[in-house]
Amino acid sequence: ELLKEETREEVPVAVIGGGIVGPVMAYILGEHGIRVHLYEARGKSLDGSQGRAINLSLSSRGMDALVRIGISEEVLKETTPFYGRCIHLPNSGGKTKLQYYSVKKEAVHSMNRRRLSELLLKKLEENPNVKIYYEHKLMNIEHQNNTLHFNVKRAGEEKESSYKISIKAKFIIGCDGFNSSVRKSVLGSILHYQQDILDEVYHELYLPPTQNGESALQHSDMFHIWPLGEVMLVGVPNKGNSFNIILFIPLSVSKSIKTPSDVLKFFKKYFPDLLEKIPNENQLIKDFFRKTPSRLNTIKCYPYHYGNILLLGDAAHSVLPFYGQGMNAGLEDCLIFEECLQEKDGDLETAAELFTDRRWKDLHTLADQSLHNFTTLRKGVNSNRFWINIKLESLLSVLLPNVFKQIYPMVVFSRGRYSEIHEREKWQKKLVNMIAIIIIIMSMLIISLILSFVI
Ligand code: FAD
Repeated sequence: ELLKEETREEVPVAVIGGGIVGPVMAYILGEHGIRVHLYEARGKSLDGSQGRAINLSLSSRGMDALVRIGISEEVLKETTPFYGRCIHLPNSGGKTKLQYYSVKKEAVHSMNRRRLSELLLKKLEENPNVKIYYEHKLMNIEHQNNTLHFNVKRAGEEKESSYKISIKAKFIIGCDGFNSSVRKSVLGSILHYQQDILDEVYHELYLPPTQNGESALQHSDMFHIWPLGEVMLVGVPNKGNSFNIILFIPLSVSKSIKTPSDVLKFFKKYFPDLLEKIPNENQLIKDFFRKTPSRLNTIKCYPYHYGNILLLGDAAHSVLPFYGQGMNAGLEDCLIFEECLQEKDGDLETAAELFTDRRWKDLHTLADQSLHNFTTLRKGVNSNRFWINIKLESLLSVLLPNVFKQIYPMVVFSRGRYSEIHEREKWQKKLVNMIAIIIIIMSMLIISLILSFVI
């Protein structure tokens, strides 16, 4: 129900979306003395949000952005460090294998997404150049006159109602997530646009600590994976020894699970070791059906700037979560846009152009690598070849530290460009494969030599 139409003054910069990337970008611009209005569709209180929020792994790129706005220590206090993967080997009666992310045993930090957003918005309130408007959902943008049209929810009355407002903005930054309304408004001008929706969906589940408060899984400082080909389950550690569990299954499998007994049958078949550790089966069933399972998207576009409009974060580049980099890359966008702004003496439009030039190759590489890592995690980690390569990679990085580097640590513990890391990965892979072949041939020669002596 639309009760009222309102028009407000023109704002210098309108940031749409107060999830993760929006508040950080707004804060940085505010620090440059730019007046910013941030509009968020949700209400201020997140209490009513559906279900448990997923945990995100925060690594160097994201952390640097949090350091930049002076909130890293506060966030770190609420995170849980984890040092690598604990892989639950299929059909092995619960056997696991550990893989540390780096030889130095560096940690990635797991953080509740909803809580992180809350902390960022609280920090943003301190910035005198920024105003935050909740319950403002962007509906569309009229480009001829730079006007944004919002639906505003009027809560707290007997019957919830909404009204429309229109705002003029000189510069607009779309940080409104993968379903971005800002991106939709410029769709006609996007030169390259590609959206791939995965056949898999995910269900968010939960593994509480045991009755005496201990972790139900051994290795509570690791990211757990149960890779079973088309069915995969991961466990991300939380503070307090619980785990957020995400189950990835094909949509058709998800649809075939219709009743509580279907859920239990499914878990007995695929994850019997985990089912044993879940104290309350009813909770598992409730979690499974709590929400409509979510789809996973990859969005690649080019450019990210359209005159006075810029896309950042998932609005510009939604990637699959299997590299743990979506949010980290979005937060790094803010740092890179700040660099561009400084190089262009504060001119937002030319800085946005420079941002596209500087960033597109890395973000497209990230999208491809996130998809590639999905296949590796689901199937590859079960192969001997994967483990031989991992061992060789870490050995070579220790023997030849200036020449050979482990790839995943470069992605998560450095700010190296994704595209350059991938170029390195390609030649290093060739080298590792060659060495593996030489080792196999040498071992065969030695064995046949020994056999010829014995026989
Ligand atoms: P969002 O967090 O989606 O925020 C967008 C905001 O815009 C929301 O608050 C929304 O309410 C608001 N909004 C939307 N439309 C409108 C509108 N029309 N008007 C006004 N406001 C609007 N990334 C990692 O780095 N590490 C991980 O481990 C990781 N794990 C993940 C696991 C899963 C299962 C998934 C799905 C994603 C994961 N990600 C991870 C990715 C990460 O969640 C996103 O990259 C990150 O949330 C993007 O931040 P954002 O601010 O761009 O968008």
